[in-house]
Amino acid sequence: MNDETTPVGADEGTSAAGTWLELSIECDQEAVEAVSEILSRAASGGVSVEQPFTTEQEGLAATPMLDAPVTLRAYLPGIDRTAAEDAITATRERLGHLTAFDLRPIGELQVREVHEEDWASAWKEHFPVMRLGRRIVIKPTWREYDPEPDDVIIALDPGMAFGTGLHPTTRLCLVGLERWADEGIVAGARTFDVGSGSGVLAVGAALLGAEPVRAVDTDPIAVEATMQNAARNGVTVTASQGSLPIDEGPFDLVFANLVASILVELAAPLADSVRPGDASPGSGGRLLASGIFVDREAEVRRAFAAAGMRVIRREQETDWVSLDLERPGA
Ligand code: SAH
Repeated sequence: MNDETTPVGADEGTSAAGTWLELSIECDQEAVEAVSEILSRAASGGVSVEQPFTTEQEGLAATPMLDAPVTLRAYLPGIDRTAAEDAITATRERLGHLTAFDLRPIGELQVREVHEEDWASAWKEHFPVMRLGRRIVIKPTWREYDPEPDDVIIALDPGMAFGTGLHPTTRLCLVGLERWADEGIVAGARTFDVGSGSGVLAVGAALLGAEPVRAVDTDPIAVEATMQNAARNGVTVTASQGSLPIDEGPFDLVFANLVASILVELAAPLADSVRPGDASPGSGGRLLASGIFVDREAEVRRAFAAAGMRVIRREQETDWVSLDLERPGA
């Protein structure tokens, strides 16, 4: 056992049940996907990605520092000490293999004991008000913000669910949503969000007039967060635990901010969930596929081409790619 590991339950008077081990590690943008995957094998509750940012307007606006290393964090329950130590050892080994095969710099794995009462709110400091695109603003519920006239404000408390707007893949989706709104295809659109996380995309679409909005996520925490965030914003999103296929389609607009491997696996049912066009070009429903690490783009494109989807536009931020796809008529 590495001596960086804090012994669990060493604090007198603290219940082990409320104790967590925080695993954190700094790495390059390029290594985020691989390192997240390793951390998520140890911590079932998910992995948070903290992008460093600079703030302006006394903390009311933030600009992500896209080239700076990011910090990934994951939490293990401290109550079962042996299981936690085994998981940490395995994680260190996997990270060791990764550094051996990969040239990208990855920091040391840090392990720290945290108590639920401190930790439940500590991450909130790292979550500023953010403007994405021209007029979409994500406002954490605990922050104040003076809106500009055209702002579309998404009030958000992601809790444990993914989707704070700090991650490039989420930002690419919100910018895509804004572009769809500029094309005039969001108001009244039947919309589907696959893997809704905090619900940020579903809620954003609903605020821009999409209706009805349906969301699914395999993670029950995300389903709960999606419903709460919809309620917070006074919009209707129907969220449930699950995935594709779905028999409620077809939808005019579909968001799938998943990882490349899942997009490839789900390409056919995703395409089926999108409304096909008629003979006129541009009449088909649209799918925004995001979360594509740039190395995996060709593979994802092949899968969607085979499923009959046509790429209309491609966007990239750091090493993350999103594809705006249309389902043309037969
Ligand atoms: N839409 C949010 C969250 C994206 S993270 C955003 O853009 O920020 C991806 C989400 O997809 C996670 O919440 C994860 O639980 C969920 N997910 C992963 N695999 C899935 C699958 N096969 N079907 C549905 N949801 C899935």
